[in-house]
Amino acid sequence: MNAMICITRFAPSPTGSLHIGGARTALFNYLWAKHNGGTFLLRFEDTDKARSSTQYESAISEDLRWLGITPDEEPIRQTSRIARHTEILDRMIKAGSVYPCFCSENGAHITDGIHRCRYMSDDERDSRLSSGEIHCWRFKVASGRIFTYRDKLRGEISVPTDAIEDFSLARSDGSATYLLAVVADDHDYHITHVIRGEEHLSNVPKQEMIYRAMRWNVPEWIHIPMILDRDRHKLSKRSGAISISQYRKDGWSPEAIVSYLSSLSWSEAPTDRIVSMDELARMFDIASVAKFSPVHDEDRMTHFGKIFMSNVTDKELLDWCRDSFDPASNGLIPDDEKISLIRELLDSSATQRELAFSVRSELSWNRQVFGAGIPPWFAALNDSLAAIANDEWRALKIKEVMKEFAREKGLKARDLFHPVRILLTGSSRGAPIAIILSCVGREQSLKRFGYYLKREIS
Ligand SMILES: [Zn+2]
Repeated sequence: MNAMICITRFAPSPTGSLHIGGARTALFNYLWAKHNGGTFLLRFEDTDKARSSTQYESAISEDLRWLGITPDEEPIRQTSRIARHTEILDRMIKAGSVYPCFCSENGAHITDGIHRCRYMSDDERDSRLSSGEIHCWRFKVASGRIFTYRDKLRGEISVPTDAIEDFSLARSDGSATYLLAVVADDHDYHITHVIRGEEHLSNVPKQEMIYRAMRWNVPEWIHIPMILDRDRHKLSKRSGAISISQYRKDGWSPEAIVSYLSSLSWSEAPTDRIVSMDELARMFDIASVAKFSPVHDEDRMTHFGKIFMSNVTDKELLDWCRDSFDPASNGLIPDDEKISLIRELLDSSATQRELAFSVRSELSWNRQVFGAGIPPWFAALNDSLAAIANDEWRALKIKEVMKEFAREKGLKARDLFHPVRILLTGSSRGAPIAIILSCVGREQSLKRFGYYLKREIS
């Protein structure tokens, strides 16, 4: 393979938190850079001073770091480059690529299909400029031509230049518009591949016209399809549930999220296992990204969450579920007993939080009201269990004692297990009862049983 210089960037506005769509754009930029042994940059497009905040910058950086999408250099702030933008504008003014437009921002710039200010006499233009009249700077779009550009996923695209208005490059306060700032920054940081959402596709002709006017190399354009919600609408940033920080709070693993994100529009992404970022980067091919929009599907995310959970080590499982055990008995329950219970519940959990919650609820107690009373043999069983010493209170031993008890009383073991489960937890289903007894702990189990036995006597 020929070595290709590859520098990509993710360029969010720090006006909100990182969401699924942005994270996928960042991931594809990262993977493509790493696939080619290149560089991935992060640039904050913070020129909207009213809405941008450094808190959002930190939050976005932190979310990306959590996902494993770390930029190779310090993030760039677009506002730090204002002087450079002005310099480029000056060059375009000198080259005659732009002209001042004195029309009010909301007023009509075009009369009878003609930008009036573009064809103003030199004298009028000079005198209005020197009198300090408010103006913006517009790019002179060639008229009557066909403009052709190339998107890596979509091939050649042609647009008549007459459909493109003379767009503004600098506002009346002299600040560069989005179109100029993006091109200037991408050029100066030698961005080779602009990978971004398809909503930017319509900006390409204007941006490429700036590149050509400046005689700069045009980067490869790669516009990836937008992620839709189930109703096939654009995913909304406002919906808190789709922000990466929310998924993080909900206990998702970054590995599962990254696997899920990679599968959105990239059909070769592995879906039957979780692969490392390095392996994803090796496999990734931006040219094989599909053009059609994927739908954000939490069921599919859950699928990846469960795959991830099935590969977690015992130590991690214990860490995550540490607080799910009763504090009073936590220290007495051996780790391998806890692991057996956690592993029983692993299949139904996609996140750390779900798992910790299901362990806690498996061990919780909903007191029941028994109209017909508790089984007649229950007090005797309670005595047998109470005879197990604290340091022998293990699932294996408990099961043995219960089976022995059933044999003595001429009962079937399962006729014993079910009522005990109801008395112990209040639930009719769950992990094997001996494991639950072990993990509820001796003292707590006997306390729960005692509650029913006392009521029975009084
Ligand atoms: Zn004008």
